[in-house]
Amino acid sequence: MLNAQIIKEKARELGAVATGIGDVELFKGVDPRRDPKMILPNAKCVIGFLFRVPRALYRTMEEGKQFMQYTQLGVKYIDEDLAEIFLFKIGSMIENAGYDACLQRNISNLRIKGDHSTNPEVVDTYELAHAEAVSPNKPAPEIIMDFNFAAKVCGLGAVGDSGHLIAPGVGPFLRMAFIVTDAPLECDAPFPESLCDHCGKCKEVCPGKAIDDDGVDSWQCAVYYRGAHGTNPFMEKDFLMDDPEKEAILSGNKRFDRQSAREIYKKINFLPSKTTGYIPCICGKACDMACYRHLKEKGVL
Ligand code: SF4
Ligand code: SF4
Repeated sequence: MLNAQIIKEKARELGAVATGIGDVELFKGVDPRRDPKMILPNAKCVIGFLFRVPRALYRTMEEGKQFMQYTQLGVKYIDEDLAEIFLFKIGSMIENAGYDACLQRNISNLRIKGDHSTNPEVVDTYELAHAEAVSPNKPAPEIIMDFNFAAKVCGLGAVGDSGHLIAPGVGPFLRMAFIVTDAPLECDAPFPESLCDHCGKCKEVCPGKAIDDDGVDSWQCAVYYRGAHGTNPFMEKDFLMDDPEKEAILSGNKRFDRQSAREIYKKINFLPSKTTGYIPCICGKACDMACYRHLKEKGVL
């Protein structure tokens, strides 16, 4: 008979570094457009899976040697290939046992109505601004779970000041996928408290000053993720030559919003992105690298 242990063992065999099972009742009160019960009304639990992003993919960016490998393997491949095949396999196992398995991979470029944030990893994001509910008791589609919150409910980790999930063992070097199911599985306790100790190192190293006490400004992050900073090795001397704000931009002192970020995107295409829709990470994810190093030295990972 299907149980939590069988799923966790299979998940490990298929490449997940951690699996946690969260009680769907712990999502009570969340925005209905993020509620797993709106995806599967008789859901009993949410199963969360973590995939490791190899550390060396970050290190080669930090050392200025390679930038595309992280984007292609650490982001696109894990989300679009590994996680999908993985979810189909685990989902089949659950459905063969007679239950439903609603597979949830990261949809990087979609935003629910009213969510004006963006994802620096993709060419642009699309807000479902005109979506309407098909009946009064249903939320407007597309229902998109908050993965960071779901990971906490599943006991996998919790978000740090960098805005990224931090998990034991892998720190922030991870990707996530989930299954919403009506299988009555034994649930894990939610993750108690973030491993983040507010050391401030992620803020210090961000070339775009995208992290402050209020969290991460996703538009500011998106501009500097794309490489608008002076330490970008692909930047030519005449970059933004006639722009009176050049110095402010390169030093990370200019503040970008949704509109001004989209305007400067056209000028900060340093590596190819059109073919895949994923943006090469030219900030080297300095925030995550600093975080990992700090937590590793502290002995909490
Ligand atoms: S670098 Fe420090 S402040 Fe930033 S997320 Fe990690 S532990 Fe928290
Ligand atoms: S270091 Fe990069 S990914 Fe991190 S907040 Fe800054 S721009 Fe964004």
